[in-house]
Amino acid sequence: MSEIAIHWFRQDLRLMDNPALAKAARAGALLPIYILDDETAGEAMMGGASRWWLHRALEDLNRQLGGNLRCYRGAAAEILPRLADRYGARTVSWTRCYEPWRVLRDTKISDALSKSGVETIRLNGSLLWEPWEVLKKDGEPYRVFTPFYRKGCLQADKPARPMTDRPEILPCEARSDDGAVALDALELISPIGWHETMEPHWDISEKGAHDALSTFLEEGLEGYKSGRDFPARRNVSRLSPYLHWGQISPNQVWYALDDEAAEDAPAVDVDHFRSEIAWREFSYNLLFHNPDLPSRSLQPKFEGFEWSDDVAALERWQRGMTGVPIIDAGMRELWQTGYMHNRVRMIVASFLVKNLRTDWRKGEEWFWDTLVDADLANNSASWQWVAGCGADAAPYFRIFNPVLQAEKFDPDGDYIRRYVPELAKLPGKYLAKPWEAPRAVLEEAGVALGKDYPLPVVDLKLSRIAALDAYQALS
Ligand code: FAD
Repeated sequence: MSEIAIHWFRQDLRLMDNPALAKAARAGALLPIYILDDETAGEAMMGGASRWWLHRALEDLNRQLGGNLRCYRGAAAEILPRLADRYGARTVSWTRCYEPWRVLRDTKISDALSKSGVETIRLNGSLLWEPWEVLKKDGEPYRVFTPFYRKGCLQADKPARPMTDRPEILPCEARSDDGAVALDALELISPIGWHETMEPHWDISEKGAHDALSTFLEEGLEGYKSGRDFPARRNVSRLSPYLHWGQISPNQVWYALDDEAAEDAPAVDVDHFRSEIAWREFSYNLLFHNPDLPSRSLQPKFEGFEWSDDVAALERWQRGMTGVPIIDAGMRELWQTGYMHNRVRMIVASFLVKNLRTDWRKGEEWFWDTLVDADLANNSASWQWVAGCGADAAPYFRIFNPVLQAEKFDPDGDYIRRYVPELAKLPGKYLAKPWEAPRAVLEEAGVALGKDYPLPVVDLKLSRIAALDAYQALS
């Protein structure tokens, strides 16, 4: 095999079930590469938590590739043609990405490569259905999830079955003068050391992804439909960062639900889990057909909404110091682990956008920086959903009451006690609303409000009424 093929890893950091990688490996001796292209990413540049995850994921990939992964830093549009030329590569492959800036860049790169006689292999490896495959009968994209899923996805061709063979990779001999840099030179890990608190919570590897899936199938899938709303329970998969980085494919997850490990789970749980996977597809569909989803409200009337510019309140939200325990627990879970449970994401987002009336894009920005699963499609679609300005969004009058939400979904207070330990000794009755606790109860629990734990940043009732008024004025 004398031909050389380059596989450009991006958000497909796995060897198994990677159709583009497999095809490139069959085409020739392989040069597996990663390019940190901050130059073209512009505003979509990765946040801190993502960069740390990426570093660890690349370490794992490099290990699996026998140390042959080559890293580069700079504009992919310059690096790829140069490498193809330097190595005399006839083929360059990659797994498609759907972020608008990547779509534009990749098209340009592909055009430039084909002009110089290099074939590009661009395949789907991160979605069950391409965004252009699931459309309404009139050819328009869906804007409402249920018909998207039921009439679109479930009536479309079945997703591709995952490939089960490990690709045979023959590494090509690397040149020392090809501009490659050491992984550390990508400077993905910030010297402030924030990642150290996140590190113990994750096994960032392809194997780690499959272990998370197996654990979920064995311990979490049964009872998923109802249990997924309770942040202290183990009914969610925590697969989101692995799916985002492509350390596992959605096809592997989808078809694992047919396997032995899942066969005892009630159909209602399996179906519900499938529909959540499809929410990810829906977000990608929305982003692909609405490239300004991350920056503009899908419902144009919201662009005129008067947001608050209370920076101090935003900072208290970011730090988990709002004085509202379920909000602070969620924001601290995020900071400490890089993850936040979905129910709590909805509660903290509603609180920011509605009670604090802060622009949803400020919340989106913070999540972008701090989530290990920060994903342009899921993050922007979800923020627009909570803010009520997106497609198929929550109606404006749905304003979560964080106290009732905590009492319902964290009934024993385990989640709040874990992340807000200064309130751990408060009796359950007051845990979600310490400001209502009598002085003696607070004293007994060793809590001085305003000193050990803040008073609420906002009055929940008044801020709810003010939000309803402001939203109503828009309609
Ligand atoms: P599970 O319940 O085990 O679900 C399995 C998979 O289905 C997830 O890994 C995810 O890929 C997909 N999924 C589940 N729920 C959703 C959903 N509501 N929307 C889209 N896909 C879903 N998810 C991200 O992956 N990245 C983000 O940046 C992100 N930002 C969000 C911001 C806000 C304000 C909100 C409310 C939600 C956001 N989500 C985001 C969606 C959701 O919260 C996470 O996907 C989910 O919590 C991940 O945990 P899990 O893997 O344990 O989920």
